[in-house]
Amino acid sequence: MNADLHCHSAVSDGTLQPEALAARAKANGVELWALTDHDEIGGQQRARAAASALGLPYLTGTEISVTFADVTVHIVGLGFDADNAALVAGLRATRGGRRERAMEMSDGLAKVGIHGAYEGALQYVGNPELISRTHFARFLVDSKVCTDTHEVFRKYLVENKPGFVPHRWATLKNAVAWITDAGGLAVIAHPARYKFTANEEYALFSEFKAHGGRGVEVVTGSHSSADAVRYTETAIEYELLASRGSDFHSPDESHTDLGALPALPAKLTPVWTALESRIHQPA
Ligand code: AMP
Ligand code: MN
Ligand code: MN
Ligand code: MN
Repeated sequence: MNADLHCHSAVSDGTLQPEALAARAKANGVELWALTDHDEIGGQQRARAAASALGLPYLTGTEISVTFADVTVHIVGLGFDADNAALVAGLRATRGGRRERAMEMSDGLAKVGIHGAYEGALQYVGNPELISRTHFARFLVDSKVCTDTHEVFRKYLVENKPGFVPHRWATLKNAVAWITDAGGLAVIAHPARYKFTANEEYALFSEFKAHGGRGVEVVTGSHSSADAVRYTETAIEYELLASRGSDFHSPDESHTDLGALPALPAKLTPVWTALESRIHQPA
């Protein structure tokens, strides 16, 4: 099945509205879709309605920012009740520090001669509660400081660079609990991105499972084919369900389009087999 269970709209750091993403997913042959905005579920109703109108089965989604072992880890939640009060409150708290962090990022950039980055980044923000590094990256590309967003991250927005500000996100335990207690299924997003040592990775996967986490992304726009092979083995080792998602953000920036991913290896059990009752079938 062509499931795409990871992407972003302008409600977080994507450039397309939920309706445009739904149409793009449909046009690209996606058969099961989830919008997974960072720390935010404000686009869920629109995504679900648009999917329904297009005849596209839909799962609710989000991608929660977590701090684990001093590293930012992303946990995707799928199939939850988007009205769950604890989930809504937890996501709001997770979004809470973003504005202040952004102002500190701007101060750091000013020290290396890049002025007005906070105000600049704000021009790209679709949701005032969700200013992210991506919005700074778009501003620095359009103001010709860098040629693409990857260069901005490399030079300015990652650890030890002038625009990087360490931040405490949600705990792994809370993020998994918010998703699970709302009837959803928690998934470790793009595990190859964290560059953990074997011990750190063991800690992440075992604690995630102990908290009730059920899945891991194996095929994603953020993984090479070697990464997918590696995390196929990890999924089997930890008895996790496997997820698949493009992590699409923008037609201009994303290498992997909605639905344009290799299939999950046949020996894995897809996450959606455990989410059948949570799928919103088109009216
Ligand atoms: P934030 O949540 O504000 O820390 O922003 C994280 C977002 O930045 C991720 O969700 C990606 O969309 C984007 N991002 C992270 N690393 C890179 C990179 N190296 N190149 C381009 N975008 C990146
Ligand atoms: Mn993003
Ligand atoms: Mn992510
Ligand atoms: Mn993502």
